[in-house]
Amino acid sequence: MRVLIVGGVAAGMSAAARLRRLDEKAEIIVFEKDEFVSFANCGLPYHIGGTIAKRRSLLVQTAESLRESLNIDVRIFNKVTAIHPEAHLVEVEDVRSGVKSIEKYDKLILAPGAKALRPPMPGLDHPAIHELRNIADMDGILAALRAGAKRAVVMGGFIGIEAAENLRERGLEVIIVEKMPQLMVPLDPEIAFFVQDELERHGVKVLTGAAVSGFRDEEGRVIVMLENGVHIETDLVVFALGSTPFSDLAAAAGLKLGARGGIVVDAQMRTSDPDIYAAGDVIETPDFVTGNPSYVPLAGPANRQGRIAADAICGRDSAYRGTQGTSVLKVFDLTVATTGLNEKSLKRAGTEYSKVYLHPFGHVTYYPGTAQMHFKLLFCPNEKKIFGAQIAGYDGVDKRIDVVATAMRGNLTVADLEHLELAYAPPYGAAKDPVNMAGFIAMNMLRGDIRFWYSEDYDSLPPEAVILDVSTRNEFINWRLPNAINIPIGELRDQVETLDPDKVYHLYCKIGVRSYFAHRILAQNGIKSKTLAGGSDILKAMRPELIHRAGTAPAPRMAAAAVIGALAPTDTGAPPPAYQIPEGGTCFGTGTNGS
Ligand code: FAD
Repeated sequence: MRVLIVGGVAAGMSAAARLRRLDEKAEIIVFEKDEFVSFANCGLPYHIGGTIAKRRSLLVQTAESLRESLNIDVRIFNKVTAIHPEAHLVEVEDVRSGVKSIEKYDKLILAPGAKALRPPMPGLDHPAIHELRNIADMDGILAALRAGAKRAVVMGGFIGIEAAENLRERGLEVIIVEKMPQLMVPLDPEIAFFVQDELERHGVKVLTGAAVSGFRDEEGRVIVMLENGVHIETDLVVFALGSTPFSDLAAAAGLKLGARGGIVVDAQMRTSDPDIYAAGDVIETPDFVTGNPSYVPLAGPANRQGRIAADAICGRDSAYRGTQGTSVLKVFDLTVATTGLNEKSLKRAGTEYSKVYLHPFGHVTYYPGTAQMHFKLLFCPNEKKIFGAQIAGYDGVDKRIDVVATAMRGNLTVADLEHLELAYAPPYGAAKDPVNMAGFIAMNMLRGDIRFWYSEDYDSLPPEAVILDVSTRNEFINWRLPNAINIPIGELRDQVETLDPDKVYHLYCKIGVRSYFAHRILAQNGIKSKTLAGGSDILKAMRPELIHRAGTAPAPRMAAAAVIGALAPTDTGAPPPAYQIPEGGTCFGTGTNGS
């Protein structure tokens, strides 16, 4: 059997290696148009920042090492230029010599990945504008740094933020320009808020709602022109607006493409031609939650899809089960992670959903080195199915998102989250893990033990609504919602007689724990109330203008506020330490049994 593979990185090499393990006799040829195969594209930003010190660490394999270890014929600088499905032929061009050849296949795997989105913009070919997709792009950015670049403008989502962080680590002045009102579109805005806050705390300037209209040269420097008339002079632009499937070859060969331009495949990665398979960033896959076609270019799915294509070619019973979009990002000290659907997409689809927020610590607060995370869980109120989760925090975020992602794969419900038995010792978590807590809150809600009001309801509360702040007097003095009254939770039982049973009390506190306790006190005394989901931390994240507006004194910035007992306004400009040992105080997620 002669198998040709187009593209020699994640999906392509995964397919090639699996094929060899299953079929020692197969002739496997990988065509890669660039110099490097099997390189670590996910590591590129970290070599720019210097965390990955050696460039060669990114070059996981070479054509020679693959020939030696797996007997795979890897042809670098070989670009596949056309496919002839009926004749089972591809046309190949050696991009160094220009020599063209024709190769025959029994099976063909397309793994050419994605190309950067490049909307038409004047000046986009300026030499100071760099993409960040491969080793050559990274080398170009490093060359600009060596040539003395001191300022950078970055456009883009995950990769853009990684680039921004790493350029900042190298001492550059960095500005992120984002057209949307929030960073990182896969997140909902109140979780994206924490990403922006972390970037700003580390000196990255973030301009949201700022569309770039084009670029122009000024003596070798580039001027980034915004639609609002602002011009930013900079030495370097990282242009990482996202990616689109590299499906031109497939389209020209008549293979079926989906609405997003990705190749349509079945669960065995077979395209509309039975002898041509495709995997990785070039395909569309069913969304794991909805089953609808989706385009999610990530390394994990690409690797698994490559493996499945090889399995299918070798007659193995292997099927892809959809893409969930589980991803994680380091933003200086912050980790932000997501899995499944976000609220924006649920709303767009008209799906009925519920949501809960919580702010547990990464591990128990009496063990040093933890901070609060901001955890949002979305689920179906009827079937209790988990739709998705998003978490931003400082420790233990990746673990919690992976538990939720795994629960989703196993079709566990929010009711099951209550019962997960997760590893615990003080340095790692809490006896009630944040994931258990998310299940408790969701089920409290579904059982009717808690009624929420939401930050987005704030503007439309009826005039007779009583907004009741149950935090301490000092907290109330420092920050409060306009028109709120204050009864600290400790005084509520004594004052319950004074409350009006005809009114609905809209309770809040900082993170939603004390207001939940208050809600239970009031419910059991015949007083109607609702508690603010996620507390004022989420309200402020959704409505940053309230951070400084509402109280009598400026509130500390959110990231600092996430650390109990260490609230320090950051007007000195220096980033506050990300990790603080909380001084006493109760917190969500701490074991109550001395654990
Ligand atoms: P690629 O890995 O892009 O490989 C495709 C290869 O095909 C390329 O080398 C290309 O040159 C070659 N090719 C294209 N056309 C032809 C042709 N006609 N002939 C021959 N060769 C061709 N994902 C994560 O999950 N986590 C991360 O942290 C993460 N970080 C990333 C950081 C960066 C900077 C980048 C660029 C991507 C990152 N990704 C991350 C995304 C992840 O790398 C991709 O989803 C994954 O590499 C896709 O694998 P692929 O094989 O489909 O495509």
